[in-house]
Amino acid sequence: MPDRESSSPAAISLSPQRLTCASLALVGLICLLCIGVLISAYRDAQRNTEKSTRNLSIVVARDIERNLELSDLQLQSVIDGLHQPGIDQYPDSVRRMILFNRSYAIKYLGDTRVTNAAGEVILDENLTAPAHIDLAQRDFFTVHQHDAKAGLYISKPFQAQPGAGPYEIALSRRLNAADGSFAGVVFSTLRLDYFYQLLQDINVGGKGHVVLYLTDGTILMEYPTNTATLGHNIRGSKLLQTLGATDDGFVTGPSPLDNVTRLRAFRHLDHLPLILTVGVSVDDMLLAWREKAWVIVIYTSLLGVATVLLSFLLVRELRRRQELESELLRLARTDSLTQLGNRRLFDESLKREWERAARLRKPLSLMMLDIDWFKKYNDLYGHPAGDVALRAVAVCIAEGIHRPTDICARYGGEEFTVVLPETNLSGTFHVAEKIRKAVEKMGLIHEGSALKVVTVSIGLATVIPRQQDDAQTLIDAADEAMYRAKQAGRNRVLAQQKPPDEKPVPGYVSMPL
Ligand code: GH3
Ligand code: MG
Ligand code: MG
Repeated sequence: MPDRESSSPAAISLSPQRLTCASLALVGLICLLCIGVLISAYRDAQRNTEKSTRNLSIVVARDIERNLELSDLQLQSVIDGLHQPGIDQYPDSVRRMILFNRSYAIKYLGDTRVTNAAGEVILDENLTAPAHIDLAQRDFFTVHQHDAKAGLYISKPFQAQPGAGPYEIALSRRLNAADGSFAGVVFSTLRLDYFYQLLQDINVGGKGHVVLYLTDGTILMEYPTNTATLGHNIRGSKLLQTLGATDDGFVTGPSPLDNVTRLRAFRHLDHLPLILTVGVSVDDMLLAWREKAWVIVIYTSLLGVATVLLSFLLVRELRRRQELESELLRLARTDSLTQLGNRRLFDESLKREWERAARLRKPLSLMMLDIDWFKKYNDLYGHPAGDVALRAVAVCIAEGIHRPTDICARYGGEEFTVVLPETNLSGTFHVAEKIRKAVEKMGLIHEGSALKVVTVSIGLATVIPRQQDDAQTLIDAADEAMYRAKQAGRNRVLAQQKPPDEKPVPGYVSMPL
């Protein structure tokens, strides 16, 4: 039976398989779009955090650079002053006025002092008689003692009195004697409050973190304020490796201090041995993104589920309609009495098989069957009994053929036909004999027949068709053979004969039976 659905373009576009594929593709596309939007929103959140932390690090670094450079200038000015010839000649108050110029001072900067080579404070910005303080063990003293080229040194954080008072750092420079030997240091202290005051109005989120490191990894200051880690060194950590690799940049990862994963902007301060990091926790960074992601994922899932559900319903409906349509198509080609194919199926099948056989140069056989003395049967047993006999003969025919390509149909009245593609006359005869015997063997009583049972007469014809010929010639040949079978006494199978005249029908083959 020809597949009429597949030949219609509208039916192709609406096939359940295509609909399922299209809806799956749509769901895939929706998922891809969703992932695309989420990735884009994630990158936006990352970019915005990078931008804000970078800007903050620049502003904070500039303030620290400016103030520490001013403090350094003050130290250098004291050193220059101490090298002036005759400075020792002035009274102490005048000498201090010359040496210590307060114009550079910032609020959190302590007194500037000078030590001798033994680490004793010998000159104090504000005191005529400096308190006796021994700094010989302090890092900001010893570093200059051992290294003439240490330059500006920034000390580790310490408390003025151990365990008490605010934390501060010292900025120191070496003082050389006339012969270049170590003569002491000039230093001033800076309270860490300076940094806390600088950062107090900066919002870096709940788990945000600003840290000032010495380039060796020592923590000078941590904000929010945490005195517990002051002076700790993160030497050897992956973070310090990254911080040391370039002048500025970004680094994301867990903090070696509190293990919180942060995105940090970092920068080395100009001319100072300091690194500043401004970090925002990744959790804070992704807070808004996560909320947005949930909304997108929920709506996308709903959309995906709705699409799948809708397409499932559509596919089911389409399948139902297709089943209905194919049932209708089947019924339109089925004989309602015998359930064999009807005349329409026969006409379509014969035409199709004729063309195929012509294309492939293969034989095509046709069988015409007619029930013997059937009019009498109806007259004797009634029309309903005749219908029962027709159905019984139809079963014999249907059971007599086995190849899926063979087609049997009710030709009309009590006549049947069987189309046998790629079957020669001998094979067709074999099938026909089987059917004839099966009908006879049924033993349906028929008192009006000479044989006393229902029988059939069968005519056969075989041809290797040519495109230009008409299939009707095959029907006529089989019909003619069936007519001869009737004449020869019925209940028999006869094949076509060569036409009696000298002109053979083109393409027809004949064989002795
Ligand atoms: P023959 O052996 O020469 O074929 O004799 P016959 O009586 O069978 O002659 P014919 O083929 O002309 O008879 C056709 C009869 O088949 C006519 C009608 O009574 C019967 N017939 C045709 N269609 C039906 C049908 O659908 N149901 C029944 N019960 N009988 C039918
Ligand atoms: Mg007939
Ligand atoms: Mg008949």
